[in-house]
This record gives sequence, C-alpha cells and structure tokens, in this order.
Amino acid sequence: MDNTVNKVDILAIGVHPDDIELACSGTLLKHIEDGKTVGILDLTRGELGTRGTAEIRAQEAAKAAEMLGAQFRWNTGMADGFFAITPENTRKIIQAIRACQPSIVLANALDDRHPDHGRAAKLTADACFYSGLEKVQTHFPDGSPQTKWRPDVVYHYIQDRNLEPDFVVDITPYIDRKMEIIMAYGSQFHNPEAKEYEQEAATPISGQQFKRFLRAKAASYGRVAAFDFAEGFNVTRTPGVQGLFDLK
Ligand SMILES: [Zn+2]
Repeated sequence: MDNTVNKVDILAIGVHPDDIELACSGTLLKHIEDGKTVGILDLTRGELGTRGTAEIRAQEAAKAAEMLGAQFRWNTGMADGFFAITPENTRKIIQAIRACQPSIVLANALDDRHPDHGRAAKLTADACFYSGLEKVQTHFPDGSPQTKWRPDVVYHYIQDRNLEPDFVVDITPYIDRKMEIIMAYGSQFHNPEAKEYEQEAATPISGQQFKRFLRAKAASYGRVAAFDFAEGFNVTRTPGVQGLFDLK
C-alpha cells in the first residue's frame, strides 16, 4: 500500500494466501479478461500452515497474483489462527478498502472446515460497513487522512465445505488456468515439479486427490446452472438484477 488511492473494481480478501486462488480465481480471471481491475488483500501470511514457511508462501502468493493479473497483493500481517475481531484488525481492513475503493469485495466463506475462514468472513464484512462511516478515521502509511468508502456489495466465496450457493459464476473457460495458478503454491499442493516438498507432512490439501476434488467441486457447482464449471458464492442480503434475462 502506498500513500494514494489505487482504485480497483474488485478487492478479493482472504485470511490465508491461497484462499482466493482456491475459491474464486476463476471468477477473478473472467472479470480481468472483461477489463475489470482486481486487487488482493491477504489478512495473514499463513504462518501456521503445516507445509512451507511464511517466506515461501509469500513468494508463491506473489507469483500467483502475477499469473492472475492482479493490480496488487497486500497483506495486513494479522496472526494466522489467533487473529480476533478487534477494532485494530477491523481498522486494518478499512485502511485497505479506502486505499483501493472497490465496488465489490469478495470475502471468505461464511462457514468452513478451517475455523479462520468464518471469523475472517465476519471481520471483513464488518469492516466493509464501518469503512463507510465518516467518523471512523484511518490514514495512509504517511499519516495523511483517508476518506470514507463503502463497497456496493460483499460476496462470500465458497471454499471447502459444500455450502448451498446463492449464485454461481460460470468459469468454464478458466478452469485450466485456475488450476495452474493454484499450482503456484508448490509448498501446499501436489506438484510433480516441486520435488523439494515431497518429504513434508501430508495434509488434507497436499495430495493429487485434492486437485480432482477441486475440479469435481467446480463441476458440481456448475451443474445447477448448466455450466461445465462454476464457483459458488453466498450473500447475506438478497441481490437484485436489472432484468430477468441476467439470470441463467
Ligand atoms: Zn484458508
């Protein structure tokens, strides 16, 4: 983050570096191809992850952001696993929102296998609201004041647990690129090129089977809307459309 506004259309926020790639990178690829701009905000460095280190994950996250075509990737440096919903942490997210003034914020799943995800979802959604209040004061790193900004909407991307989506986004043309971007996280996922990690402990996401699961999950979310592959999202308030033909 620098000391001026870096405006983007979509700010994707995830508590761990790789949440965004796993859950909504197909949607982001599609909107970038449509000419929209995307920024990424990671809340932690994923330092509690079983495999890899915070440094390695930072390098992988930078590579993934570049492959995705994101304008920037920021990190608030909260404590992985032990962050809480506090005024200080809320303010960190508000500072990032005001520094890029997004129309849409994508946030973690409302409920998930990893307990950090649901807590980050609440923290992010709260921050989007408070960011619109003038009397909540935040500053750029150089101390200059920021102006209030409330995103139009917050959508929660579904990640691990099979939540019932409120809508799905067709990512059929992007499924292969999505999988390539996920493989940028060589320390986390099965990657035949990254032999240095083969000796590390296996985790529920490190095996070849997890890649099959990701494709199957995208196929499953696509099926309800007759798309080959899709990503699912939840909302906490009912979305509206301009016309019935916008719905598939
Ligand atoms: Zn995560």
